[in-house]
Amino acid sequence: MKKSLRDVEVKGKRVLVRVDFNVPIDEQGNIVDDTRIRASLPTINYLIDAKAKTILISHLGRPKGKEERFSLRPVAKRLSRHLGREVHFYPDCVGDGVKNKVKALKEGEVLLLENLRFYEGETSCDEEFAKKLSELGEIFVNDAFGTCHRKHASVYLLPQILKPAVMGFLLEKEINYFRKALIDPQRPVVALLGGAKVSSKLGIIKNLLRRMDKLFIGGAMAFTFIKSLGYEVGSSLVEEELIGVARDILDVAKKLDVKLYLPVDFVIGKEVSDNTPTKVVPWQEIPKGWMGLDIGPVSLSLLREVLRDAQTVIWNGPMGVFELDRFKEGTFQTAKMVAESPALTIAGGGDTDYAIHRAGLYDSIDFVSTGGGAFLKLLEGNDLPCIKVLDDKD
Ligand code: AMP
Repeated sequence: MKKSLRDVEVKGKRVLVRVDFNVPIDEQGNIVDDTRIRASLPTINYLIDAKAKTILISHLGRPKGKEERFSLRPVAKRLSRHLGREVHFYPDCVGDGVKNKVKALKEGEVLLLENLRFYEGETSCDEEFAKKLSELGEIFVNDAFGTCHRKHASVYLLPQILKPAVMGFLLEKEINYFRKALIDPQRPVVALLGGAKVSSKLGIIKNLLRRMDKLFIGGAMAFTFIKSLGYEVGSSLVEEELIGVARDILDVAKKLDVKLYLPVDFVIGKEVSDNTPTKVVPWQEIPKGWMGLDIGPVSLSLLREVLRDAQTVIWNGPMGVFELDRFKEGTFQTAKMVAESPALTIAGGGDTDYAIHRAGLYDSIDFVSTGGGAFLKLLEGNDLPCIKVLDDKD
């Protein structure tokens, strides 16, 4: 177990908190979705109440050097509104100017520094850059779950230099939910997987096979599995080189007595476009020149049955080309079923998160992970390097 913010004395201390304020900002400089800012509030409010001097650091986007449109300044404003108090902002994250600003901080005050990625040393994991950051604080808190799979200076090196280095409340929540879903779940535990490629989800499928009672595989991934059973799937997306692997996975599922489900019907089209003609057909009847672009209504009924007795549900990946109106229904209905399930429900991944938001179901799912890539790494059964380097509990 890793130490948490609750395990350290923070009163009057300069606490350097790595948050993930990588929020979408439109061309006018407006924050389009502030979920990640809101997710960090429990940690920041705790530090304010405990009279710490809070210094927040984050990245935003992928700037090439100091590009104003990737500035965190608008985030400081939005954060101020959520906290109901002023958040100081400084337009740099290392150097003497920052040090002076930090020195002037009073107990209970909050300071947000400029985008870490304005310095190349952040992503190249430069030791000098991490050292400079370490001079700003007396305690390090990692609350940036979304970056914990990346060995970047502020999340990977900094906690090795600046001690104590502990988990913030968001990180703790992510890890606790993950444990409840994967390590010690209430059973039956069901995973719903979607997305385009078996190759990118292979690690997850293999890990989940050992841990789940039921596994539903939708999205374009389903076609490689269906093909492995000897059926033709028209021009649907198939990874030919993985047909053998798909077959093995079906065999392993049988051996482990994991119930593996595939969609039984599809919404098919001639091309990936909202203007294509569509039909709904059983999986055995996808004609030449047509491709499966969403799961069909019978598959959704099957999914409802699969979920009926679930105590824990994990969902990652869209069931179809949900970006297009003609093929979004499968994914949106899946989101609805997960949201309505009385089970403990956990979802994650960039597209999944987006679909849940668009469906307005964010608050109906027990936990939506704030980390796309980091969540997938955990599902694969991997440790996250930036959590590993935090202090262990005594
Ligand atoms: P991934 O990044 O692997 O989770 O894949 C997400 C992408 O899979 C989304 O952009 C979906 O449009 C795409 N996708 C899901 N189902 C299908 C399908 N049946 N055919 C083609 N693409 C799909």
